Amino acid sequence: MERITCKFGGSSLADSSCIRQVIDIIRANPARKYIVPSAPGKRTAEEKKITDLLYAWHNMARQGLDPTEPKSIIEERFSTLARELGVSFNVQPCLEEIAEHASRDEAPDYMASRGEYLNGKLIAEALGAVFVDPAECILFKENGQLDPRSYDLLGEKLQGDCLFVVPGFYGATPKGEIKTFSRGGSDISGSIVARATRSSLYENWTDVSGFRMADPRIVPDAKRIEEITYRELRELSYMGATVLHDEAIFPVREPGIPIQILNTKKPDSPGTLIVARRDSGHPVCGIAGRRGFTMFNIEKTLMNKEHGFGRKLLSIFEEHRVSWEHMPTGIDTISIIASDDELKGKVQTILESIERLLDPDDLTVTSGLAIVATVGKGMNRLVGVAARLTGALAEAGVNIRVINQGSSEMNILIGVEEQDLEKAVSAIYHAFDSWQ
Ligand code: ASP
Repeated sequence: MERITCKFGGSSLADSSCIRQVIDIIRANPARKYIVPSAPGKRTAEEKKITDLLYAWHNMARQGLDPTEPKSIIEERFSTLARELGVSFNVQPCLEEIAEHASRDEAPDYMASRGEYLNGKLIAEALGAVFVDPAECILFKENGQLDPRSYDLLGEKLQGDCLFVVPGFYGATPKGEIKTFSRGGSDISGSIVARATRSSLYENWTDVSGFRMADPRIVPDAKRIEEITYRELRELSYMGATVLHDEAIFPVREPGIPIQILNTKKPDSPGTLIVARRDSGHPVCGIAGRRGFTMFNIEKTLMNKEHGFGRKLLSIFEEHRVSWEHMPTGIDTISIIASDDELKGKVQTILESIERLLDPDDLTVTSGLAIVATVGKGMNRLVGVAARLTGALAEAGVNIRVINQGSSEMNILIGVEEQDLEKAVSAIYHAFDSWQ
């Protein structure tokens, strides 16, 4: 029998009319059995998400400030939802319990998780579904990673022919304390539920109709990606495509459960399907880019004959606890690219260590780099991809500072000056959007 896990994001659950749409979507297909809601998102651009209000409440309470404001906004939002949806759910006693935790000197995870918990309770009642608390069945190991026993525990709880609601975003530590995933982590919860229930499909309902080939803020008419593999998506989300949490693919990748990104406001649009394999479709599936990189360029004659040069260089980054991103090499040159977030305040000492340990002929730093990734599994079977890409950049007047092709031939990375990021993404998109 077909079974579907559906995760609904905060923007799809922001008010009672959104929740009614969600209920219609769930009822339209009886295979939609496992529902994973986020906390209510913003109703207007100025408003705060419930999760942000909970973090604010925690912060204020810990500093001894009066948290009445965030608390009463949360109360008002859930009471309005309950009233408008005609459910008896009463948020008041839950908020009193939350208030007791608010000022405790512990991580804010318990507080942050309550948005999903309360919304899960409310939606379960509105749907007549069984509420399953992830604190009892999504477990983290001591090191913060997901305990794989969670799949069996969840699987046991989610048996039977009912509709289930499992709030997203959190689970519990071995000590029984609530722990959340990183922000946007309900996508991961949905993926875990899909795997635990051996769902045939994981529907991720959000406020856009899937992924676009390029960021629509840069290319407003960028085409929708119909189908993309887990690996292609991994590369694109790593580079900044943010529709889905970048860790959400891991639980479903092994059993090969497809993820479909769908739009609650346009439920008939097919969105984007994320699959294990695709043999057809566009050779280039997307272009994404990020600012904020720095490149260390090291030149030394006969570097290629010197044993251990690369190891010594990388050990410097390891000692400084900087995880680097890319390492383009030449005959007598090697470069290391790292993000500015990783390098904060460490560039000078890294340069000194390189001078001391490797005695280079030349050592320079290029900062203010943006990296643009052109991703597509089909690129490896085509001649002329790089020529088309570099030609488009030349025509747009973008100077390529560095170019790197991953060994999978699924991703061409180019480094450009930060101010050229938009121009580069747009030029590459238009070079490939109608290429078959
Ligand atoms: N509510 C959480 C957040 O705002 C988790 C989620 O929505 O996925 O990050």
